[in-house]
Amino acid sequence: MSDVERNLKAIYERIKNACIACDRSPSEVRLMLATKTNPAERIIEALKCGETLIGENRVQELVAKADALSGWPIEKHMIGHLQSNKAAKALDHVTCIQSIDRMSIAERLNTLLAKREKQLDVYLQFNTSGESSKFGFDPNEAVSVAREIAQFEHLKIKGVMTIGLLVPEPVLSRSSLRDLRIIYDRLNEEAIPGIDLQEISMGMSTDLEVAIEEGSTMVRIGTDIFGKRETPPGIFWNENDPSREAPI
Ligand SMILES: *Cc1c(COP(=O)(O)O)cnc(C)c1O
Repeated sequence: MSDVERNLKAIYERIKNACIACDRSPSEVRLMLATKTNPAERIIEALKCGETLIGENRVQELVAKADALSGWPIEKHMIGHLQSNKAAKALDHVTCIQSIDRMSIAERLNTLLAKREKQLDVYLQFNTSGESSKFGFDPNEAVSVAREIAQFEHLKIKGVMTIGLLVPEPVLSRSSLRDLRIIYDRLNEEAIPGIDLQEISMGMSTDLEVAIEEGSTMVRIGTDIFGKRETPPGIFWNENDPSREAPI
């Protein structure tokens, strides 16, 4: 058994146990492979185990791995901050962008999609941890943001997404995860025309149990499947870090 296969088994065990602990069915929680920095061969080890959903942070990586992954029946989402000048390229590779973190990127994508006469599933990313290094809309503006983005005809809002407070002790991230669930419920109550929320995307290697308890329907796991990454997480999250564009 490969390490990836073993790790996947362990993750499913954790998902199952977390669901049991809060009376949910494990079938309510999808597993997304967070594949950043991992080469296609490594990802394919997981696909051989039956995985079908992957999330990438960077357009460069989507492009670099596209050929090697092309024969696999997978769904690819963008889960990292998307720069405007890479938006068109991203659209060539993904069926959903979870990281709609500012109005300008929503506008840009809508314009590009109009030209292509296409629609795209998107999730709204909220900064529920209050950390300045995180991207995402202010939770207090959730309703107005959702109303505005719902006007973009080519974007279909299908979910909400957050990166919980990243601390070694997962109990401390609970309120940042709970806040996303509150946003989800609030948006559903508003019943905004054109919005059909289906997913609450939250939970990573360290906080998947808490995220499931707080209502996650999609956990995004990297480290505990593929192993520890060399690259510090800051380069994926901090807008002001000049090394963000460094090749991997
Ligand atoms: C890296 C990443 C993950 C997975 O994080 P791990 O701690 O490696 O499991 C999930 N979501 C996003 C947006 C990420 O960038």
